[in-house]
Amino acid sequence: MKEEKIKENLMEKIVSLCKRRGFVFPGSEIYGGLAGTWDYGHLGNELLHNIKQSWWNKFVAAREDVYGIRAAILMNTKVWEASGHVAGFADPLENGEKFNTMFKTQIGAKKEEITTSYLRPETAQGIFVNFKNTVDAFHPKLPFGIAQIGKAFRNEIAPRDFLFRQREFDQMEIEYFVRPNEWQKFFEYWKDEMMEWMEEIGLDMSRVHDVEVPEKERAHYSSHTVDFEFEYPFGQKELFGLAYRADFDLKNHNLSYQDQDTGEKIIPHVIEPTFGADRAFLALLLSAYSEDNLGNEPRVFLKLKPTLAPVKVAIFPLLHNKPELVKKAREIYANLKQEIPNIVFDDNGNIGKRYRRQDEIGTPFCVTVDFDTPQDDTVTVRDRDTGTQERVKVTELKEYIKEKIL
Ligand code: ATP
Repeated sequence: MKEEKIKENLMEKIVSLCKRRGFVFPGSEIYGGLAGTWDYGHLGNELLHNIKQSWWNKFVAAREDVYGIRAAILMNTKVWEASGHVAGFADPLENGEKFNTMFKTQIGAKKEEITTSYLRPETAQGIFVNFKNTVDAFHPKLPFGIAQIGKAFRNEIAPRDFLFRQREFDQMEIEYFVRPNEWQKFFEYWKDEMMEWMEEIGLDMSRVHDVEVPEKERAHYSSHTVDFEFEYPFGQKELFGLAYRADFDLKNHNLSYQDQDTGEKIIPHVIEPTFGADRAFLALLLSAYSEDNLGNEPRVFLKLKPTLAPVKVAIFPLLHNKPELVKKAREIYANLKQEIPNIVFDDNGNIGKRYRRQDEIGTPFCVTVDFDTPQDDTVTVRDRDTGTQERVKVTELKEYIKEKIL
């Protein structure tokens, strides 16, 4: 299929697929919606979860120098005063008046006890306020990082472009603490790490560009920023960012680090790789979305990596009205499901339609029990991307699939 044809109305096609197949629904839809909010359905939630899991595995679980945390969303207002967000986290309105995009909320019930707080606009501050706790608990040596995944809230003036600009979204952030004279080295190091992860999850790297952000466009805390931009159908815009926050945050929170061996006290500098999980989700769908002709029929399929695909394997009996095939397919399903999560059983409609349904949600493999199965104890395994089928022994199926998807 011609690239231009696939790109035609691509956003509309993605939004419609997401709704129809249970990936993403408009927020509060039965009450007319709420601008800037989206709800993830069963398959979208799985995909988002897999994205976050892949991130956490690479940047926290597989490393020795990054500690994970899960901080509260509500924080003492003093945090947001010290961080500069109360004074400076603002977007320009049309008439040039600035508008602070933090959501204000009230804490407490009794009038005299009520205090104002904010829904956090970034997960980073939850990390900084736990800097001392983490150092005291784990005694890390520099350089080291603290990471978290969680919701952030921004009262965006103009939420738009599906998941791209929402009023609440998931961030995945690392604050990496380094000796001041080493910031450039680690800035380059994290740039490479970020690119590596983008490649690993299967983003179309030909559509990813790293762009130096000029001083006047940088956030108030940043001395140097590189944005990773993605070519979305609505333009080339930010996907993720890498900021050099220097000592801005630790200094503002009156925090420092003492080297246990030398006694030296310093304020480490901070490199911040930041990732929006929802933008990763959108860019991944845009990278995976494919159309072709298979068996002379047009089809839509999501070329998602098996590790990220929300459904790993679908098991079918060739015909739903042949009890011996259904029974065998059910047996295989039950057996695989013990070790492979996210597999489905489907006997609804003809086999061609079932393949198309799985292609459209990115299921990498379909297993069909047919009339040869009772004879030779084999099944067909169909590959999503090529449509080719292979006969595999039922006794070897679990290992065959595990090797391909895990
Ligand atoms: P933009 O310039 O697009 O408003 P930003 O520079 O304000 O983004 P950051 O403050 O760097 O964004 O936030 C870190 C990451 O959080 C971004 O790289 C992006 O992936 C994600 N993000 C930011 N704002 C939103 C939003 N409104 N909806 C979804 N994701 C967002």
